[in-house]
Amino acid sequence: MELNKDLGLSTLLQHFGEDEKIAGAVTPPIFQNSLFVFDTMDELLENMGKHPAGPRHHYSRISNPTVDLAEKKLAKLEGTDACKITGSGMAAISVAVFSCVKQGSHIVVVDTAYGPLKALVSEYLPQFGVTHTFVNGSDVDEVVAAIRPETTLIYLESPSSLIFRLQDMEAIAKIAKERGITTICDNTYCTPIFMQPHKMGIDIVCHSATKYLGGHSDITAGVVCANQERIEKIIRKEIALFGSILHPFQSWLLNRSLRTLDLRMKRHEETGNAVASWLEKRDEVAHVNHVSLESFPQRELYLKMMSGSGGLFSFEPRVQNPDKVKAFADALKLFQRGVSWGGFESLVVALPVSPIGYNGTRWIVRLFCGLEDAKDLIADIEQALPHLA
Ligand SMILES: *Cc1c(COP(=O)(O)O)cnc(C)c1O
Repeated sequence: MELNKDLGLSTLLQHFGEDEKIAGAVTPPIFQNSLFVFDTMDELLENMGKHPAGPRHHYSRISNPTVDLAEKKLAKLEGTDACKITGSGMAAISVAVFSCVKQGSHIVVVDTAYGPLKALVSEYLPQFGVTHTFVNGSDVDEVVAAIRPETTLIYLESPSSLIFRLQDMEAIAKIAKERGITTICDNTYCTPIFMQPHKMGIDIVCHSATKYLGGHSDITAGVVCANQERIEKIIRKEIALFGSILHPFQSWLLNRSLRTLDLRMKRHEETGNAVASWLEKRDEVAHVNHVSLESFPQRELYLKMMSGSGGLFSFEPRVQNPDKVKAFADALKLFQRGVSWGGFESLVVALPVSPIGYNGTRWIVRLFCGLEDAKDLIADIEQALPHLA
């Protein structure tokens, strides 16, 4: 079956890249092999020379058919011509960042980006002479003001995953392009179902596939999407040299997960909206940070860039006593206390935050609405709210 060009996302998730059926198997088998053999030495040498994949796969650190399928689908969904899957989201982000810097480079980074990425930039890269500036990011002029002659990379994450701030990607990508600066966006929150940053001009789109793309809390994985030339260079350099790959079995699980991505995202969105709007009306809550609420301060930008939200948001309790906030989180039954999000199960994290432009240090509660019934999640929160009195 040859697929035509304008199929919807749900159809692509089921069939894209799966034309060739192996032994008629309806789901592609796992290629659980580390290497591929050839009839002649000439063929092997030709394939080795033609990094990344040559006409044929030769070694699973470089490429593997099971991993390939997830890569093809995700590139198609993000609207890039290529993709590389990695062993975790941090591996994806790290190889992407390393591919954009050399000694003396400067990076502009949004201050609300994922914590370990900030550590990479502020604690690890300085030893190689790479400098950085953290910016709020919600103001394009502030991003521009941070650019220096030696800036090679602008790193974005929109929305951010604790207080859900957005950056105007179209505007930032345009300025970066004019100055020859590469842009990376961490698109873990939206997934390609709700936003495709490459279509707004972003060069490299990264994901933690541990979250929604994996969706079942049973794998860690990462995604780097970009044009062919960039991805080939990343495979030749950062992937081949650091070896941060995803193994075939995990890739097979990811392929399984992608079939329900669209369905799951819409359910998370529906439940997230129901829970967030219920919470917003409660006296114990100072404000809810959720992109799809009418009260969201960057509502116009949300409507311009994103076609949906999801199950992840946070709220600031009026009561800022850490013991009370933690007691609320401890009292929840369906929302389990744990990091990460994007799986079937609802999760809660309570922690103090103090990003640039926030009113000092404030305790927030981040909730992830899984695939349970919204009414049960609301009832769970309701029985725990007295701790925030
Ligand atoms: C979890 C996460 C990462 C890191 O992904 P891992 O798979 O845990 O390495 C990066 N960015 C965001 C926004 C995340 O939530």
